[in-house]
Amino acid sequence: MARIVMKFGGTSVADLDCIRNVAQRVKKETANNNQVVVFVSAMAGTTDQLVKWVEQISPLNDAREYDMVVSSGEQITAGLLALALQDSGVPARSWLGWQIPFKTNKMHGAARIDKIGTDEITKRLEEGTVCVIAGFQGISDDNRITTLGRGGTDTSAVALAAALNADRCDIYTDVEGVYTADPRIVPKAQKLDKITYEEMLELASLGAKILQTRSVAMAMSHKVRVQVLSSFTNKPGTMVVDEDEIVEKQIVSGITYAKDEAKVTLVGVHNTPGIASEVFILLADGNINVDMIIQNETQDGKKTDLTFTVAEKDLGKAQNILKSATNIHHEAIITDKNVAKISVIGVGMRSHAGVAASMFKTLADKRINIQVISTSEIKISVLIDAEYTELAVRALHTTYGLDAQ
Ligand code: ASP
Ligand code: MG
Repeated sequence: MARIVMKFGGTSVADLDCIRNVAQRVKKETANNNQVVVFVSAMAGTTDQLVKWVEQISPLNDAREYDMVVSSGEQITAGLLALALQDSGVPARSWLGWQIPFKTNKMHGAARIDKIGTDEITKRLEEGTVCVIAGFQGISDDNRITTLGRGGTDTSAVALAAALNADRCDIYTDVEGVYTADPRIVPKAQKLDKITYEEMLELASLGAKILQTRSVAMAMSHKVRVQVLSSFTNKPGTMVVDEDEIVEKQIVSGITYAKDEAKVTLVGVHNTPGIASEVFILLADGNINVDMIIQNETQDGKKTDLTFTVAEKDLGKAQNILKSATNIHHEAIITDKNVAKISVIGVGMRSHAGVAASMFKTLADKRINIQVISTSEIKISVLIDAEYTELAVRALHTTYGLDAQ
């Protein structure tokens, strides 16, 4: 007997047939006497619609009411799945986040889980009931409904898997697992059988929209065994595991791209102590995340150019903040939305030299100019002209020996 948490994303519960299909999968897991908790997302497209309605009725909306509205899609799918399970002879019941409860902080729209009640769920599991829970939501100390950020059902599922000490947390989606690159642009991309938590964390934050980044961080710190797999096929997916479980380590495991970034250059900034801190504190106060940064001083050392990237959606706000900051002296602000960030990721980089060099050489051979570079222990990212995204990703995929035969 095992204790399993299953999570089904929006495309897996997109309509009634899909929900019936999910019920059959859940039923199969219960057949071996397993204890099963199921988390569901809203039907595909529902949350987007709810967000739109909120923005239309109140552009500067009260975040507490935003959460009240956008959390509602999961209520429908949780109830429907419980019904589908009951109709196929499986004892099941549904819960909303607050009924468990998923206690969170008050950061509406991006709340963090503080504590999860496990008594009732544990009791129901032991009685043989399948517990269906609406993902993405919780309740604050103020007794208000909160949501965990877009894609948050992954985090709900991993968090409860950790709290219940589950044997596995299976995340069902519409792809067969984690790939070496986006199969839509790299036909030779391959599904990975295993990937390390660290690599998955980089992949998630670099724009591979498979798992919510926070769910991966949580799985890593609580050692939850996560599997990413498709609800439309019967193939094993990708296991997210500790590094020591991977015998044959690839130097590079995956290549990602993100086109939703924008580049900002502050030209001719006075080269005095405190300028960078001034710029980035202002941006942080405006809740703008800065990603890559480079600074280059002029030959006489008096001035410097400061280049960094922000999310494209934050570009206008960033420009306004910088323009109204009268104590940052600069000659011009140049912006460019037409950029893409390409990253190569792999834990094998720690022990292999020359990974960056072969990345730069590959891009040079294709005559692709590198605008900004940033690295971490297991990742190298470059910013290039967005026009060359596909070319760059495919060429790098070949360079690092990832192409399917
Ligand atoms: N339904 C929510 C969203 O679309 C949460 C989730 O699917 O994980 O972001
Ligand atoms: Mg998702």
